[in-house]
Amino acid sequence: MSLPKIDVPVYSTKLISTGKTVKYRAFTVKEEKLFLMANESEDVDTVIDSIKQVLNNCIMTKGIDVEELPLFDIEYLFLKLRAVSVGEVVNLRYKCNNILPKLDDEEEKKCNHIVEIDLNLNEITPESVKIDKTIQITDTMGISMKYPTFDLLKEFDADQEVDSIIKMTVKCIDFIYDKDSVYYAKDAKEEELIDFVESMQTKDLEKLKDFFSSMPKLKKQLDFNCVKCGYQEKIELEGIQNFFG
Ligand SMILES: [Zn+2]
Repeated sequence: MSLPKIDVPVYSTKLISTGKTVKYRAFTVKEEKLFLMANESEDVDTVIDSIKQVLNNCIMTKGIDVEELPLFDIEYLFLKLRAVSVGEVVNLRYKCNNILPKLDDEEEKKCNHIVEIDLNLNEITPESVKIDKTIQITDTMGISMKYPTFDLLKEFDADQEVDSIIKMTVKCIDFIYDKDSVYYAKDAKEEELIDFVESMQTKDLEKLKDFFSSMPKLKKQLDFNCVKCGYQEKIELEGIQNFFG
């Protein structure tokens, strides 16, 4: 006997980085299990790896390589996926850290009241940043960049800033252009690209720094209101782990 197959609805959204339309299906119990296991590990790399696996399973559009997507696209797609698969509202719980006014003979005490906040995943949108991937070097010459992938970002070493920016740039060049031609990085040798980047002036390096630091980010501000002690705070959520409490 062959059992009927369950039809899973298909949705679509646009990638932040390129505006390309992506079709995806909701994830099933099989994929939910995968994600829950990873989430328990509380290790960001493991969580992102399982998210990538779930995305690979659920993205229906051909030619989308999850490994090549920048982290903000991965996070955004995953929020969309989770919203249609599990539900768009996530219940977050925070402990109130407000220190209560103490009486004379008492020790300092925190409020510790648990405050629940409902977060609608569909309200998390990328911070509006101008997406300009061109680094102009002279009037007629410049670089068109790609956003770094998650794996590449992990390698970024803030202590060796200049070296790190050079390495990241070499891996993130899409193409170099001048008035005559376009030179794709995939057709060039790595040493050639390193030479090219190292021959730029310091002011161009600043432009590259700006490019990397102005990458789109998924952020959401929440209002924390404690009904027990009246404490109020704005909480800024950033990064996928924070959207799941
Ligand atoms: Zn409180």
